Amino acid sequence: MKRLVVLGGGESGVGTALLAKAKGYEVFVSDKGKIKENYRQVLIHNEIEWEDETHSESKILNADIVMKSPGIPDKAPLVKQIREKGIQVVSEIEFASKFTKATIVGITGSNGKTTTSTLTHYILKRELNVGLGGNIGDSFAKQVLEHDYPNYVLEISSFQLDDIDTFKPKIAVLLNVTPDHLDRYDYKFENYIASKFRIAENQTKEDYLVYDADDEVITNWLKEHPVQSTLLPFSITKKVEKGAYLEEEKMIIAIDNNQIHMSTNNLALEGKHNIKNAMAASTVAHLLKIRKQTIRESLESFQGVEHRLEQVLKINKVQYINDSKATNVNATYFALESMDAPTIWIVGGVDKGNNYEELFAFVNEKVKAVICLGVDNDKLIDTFGGMVDTIVETQSMEEAVKMAYKLSESGDNVLLSPACASFDLFENYEDRGRQFKDAVRNL
Ligand code: ADP
Repeated sequence: MKRLVVLGGGESGVGTALLAKAKGYEVFVSDKGKIKENYRQVLIHNEIEWEDETHSESKILNADIVMKSPGIPDKAPLVKQIREKGIQVVSEIEFASKFTKATIVGITGSNGKTTTSTLTHYILKRELNVGLGGNIGDSFAKQVLEHDYPNYVLEISSFQLDDIDTFKPKIAVLLNVTPDHLDRYDYKFENYIASKFRIAENQTKEDYLVYDADDEVITNWLKEHPVQSTLLPFSITKKVEKGAYLEEEKMIIAIDNNQIHMSTNNLALEGKHNIKNAMAASTVAHLLKIRKQTIRESLESFQGVEHRLEQVLKINKVQYINDSKATNVNATYFALESMDAPTIWIVGGVDKGNNYEELFAFVNEKVKAVICLGVDNDKLIDTFGGMVDTIVETQSMEEAVKMAYKLSESGDNVLLSPACASFDLFENYEDRGRQFKDAVRNL
């Protein structure tokens, strides 16, 4: 019997443990933190051996194979020891993909993964039996065990890609690459880019790589590091021969003779970034032979994902928008770009070494007031103080929203798009977004 040690007792860890047990592995789950009660119950109920708040080396270093949860960095001493002993370390998607013959769509990028994965699944599920997993909802491993769908859309982070070996999606989507998580990549951007491109490393010319041809990081990398995959670029600035592009107000998916045309005014989601996301999702849907009409209808009705440019309420003709998931500058860039009215912008939190320069043009043009919401707002005040008429500091969401209400006039937008992580004042970005919505509803 092969021994699998699972490091990390969260969604992907527990899912992997269940799948492995069913496939005849001897399984041990070890988590240095506390395992959540619901996951403990699953482990106990399924008679899987586990421990938490410690790592017992004697029970770990005798593994044949280790599944490392994406949150655990390579520099953790235990992971180093495991590698030094020559034990194979894999990620959940690598492990689980060995037990399914399903057609896999793997979606990665620095921003837009959840939106595009959810949208792609929303289109595909109208005509196919398809699971949605990866970083969303139930783990891929658990779905392989319990449903074994013939198709999957997987949202895949770079951390999941770091420990693949044979994993190969039929269709890979690379949305964009901007600097993020560099602490896990020795502060080298090229390491992070390489990690994202691993989504295509096992692909052959029968497989597809759908990517943003406007993203120079991607196009430059491809020039230097060609892949085997059939390339299907999308662009909102130029015509591409095969792929997706814009012509006047129309989005065109041109892969074969059966082209799809759709007016971008009919897309339910707003913003240029969402045209890109729609292009990526439609390209995938077309490759999987979804009917044109189904694709069009889905793009017209998809309402987006919570906390991503989510329209909350209109009060006194002021639109309140929750973009709490914008935890980096690039996401906020697209939020500000999509604003079509004077905007009161709530920003701040834990700054991950942000460079705000790319936002300046939009702030000058559209932002009438900046409301800083963080423990340390000095950098925001230094950066934007001279740029807008009003800049204020607040210490709680309720205070920030009340201030926005006071500063706004009919026709304005109030946008929460923090460009920062949330951990100084909130549990996570969901908590921040919910507090925003509650505060708006209580106005
Ligand atoms: P991820 O799962 O990659 O974090 P999300 O879909 O959750 O991506 O979106 C994160 C943030 O990025 C949101 O603020 C969203 O509005 C913004 N966003 C969505 N799509 C894109 C894109 N293609 N490019 C840049 N930003 C995007």
